[in-house]
Amino acid sequence: MNKNKDKIISLKRYICGYEEFNFPILYKKCSIPKKKLPINVFMLEHRKYGTILINTGCSNLLKHNPVSFAKFLTKYSVTFTEEDFIDKQLEKDKLDPRIVRKVLLTHCDPQCCGGLKLLPRYELCSGAKVLTLVILCDPTDGLMPSVMPPQEVPKKAAGIFEGQTILKDYFKWVFDVFGDGSILAVDLPGHAKAMTGFFLPEKNIFFAADASIDESAIENDLTPSSALLKSQCYPNDYSDTLNTLKSLKKDYPEITFLFTHSSFLMNNE
Ligand SMILES: [Zn+2]
Repeated sequence: MNKNKDKIISLKRYICGYEEFNFPILYKKCSIPKKKLPINVFMLEHRKYGTILINTGCSNLLKHNPVSFAKFLTKYSVTFTEEDFIDKQLEKDKLDPRIVRKVLLTHCDPQCCGGLKLLPRYELCSGAKVLTLVILCDPTDGLMPSVMPPQEVPKKAAGIFEGQTILKDYFKWVFDVFGDGSILAVDLPGHAKAMTGFFLPEKNIFFAADASIDESAIENDLTPSSALLKSQCYPNDYSDTLNTLKSLKKDYPEITFLFTHSSFLMNNE
């Protein structure tokens, strides 16, 4: 492929918080020790649409409701400081947060939505199911109401992708975020009420959010324990989705999977 014509020009990772995972408890017969993993936000530079973020990481807005935040910390071992916030990190890179024109949101979790309100102007893009949950945000839903964007933030649901892609052998529906084939989207059921994964065909990168804790479950063919399954919204769907990703990786080893908590270094780090 001619790199000079690629629609996605560059990809960078920001670490916007950390979460600890106890692998021996979360997977059957697992020798991987407990790991403190990053909460990743990815920044893409699109030739036509400019600067795009995938998710937004943690921010102090999560502490807005102290009771909900304390409850959240009993379930998730999440840590973050002000230096981790996406707006602070962009400013450190001499980037005005206003350059972010699109946010691709994988799902409505505090670790993905925490920084949305730190960005002054953007269009929120995802699968229709995820955007519906954003619009219908339950005001009693723990931390989420304090981090959800105002209703007037423009939203764009990915339309059906008519072209050819290997993803059609694995997923019933494949969507096209911008209608130009640069970023495809699929539903990844199980982890949350709705979750969207994003595939960059030019780069063979599949951002699969929280469909797995990180790439080690796919690389080592780990089986989720009942403890891990119980913490998912729809446990059977979570297993099915993980198995789909394992088959995709087996058939196409050249695909790089990135997750919210992937720990390996990117090319430019
Ligand atoms: Zn999640």
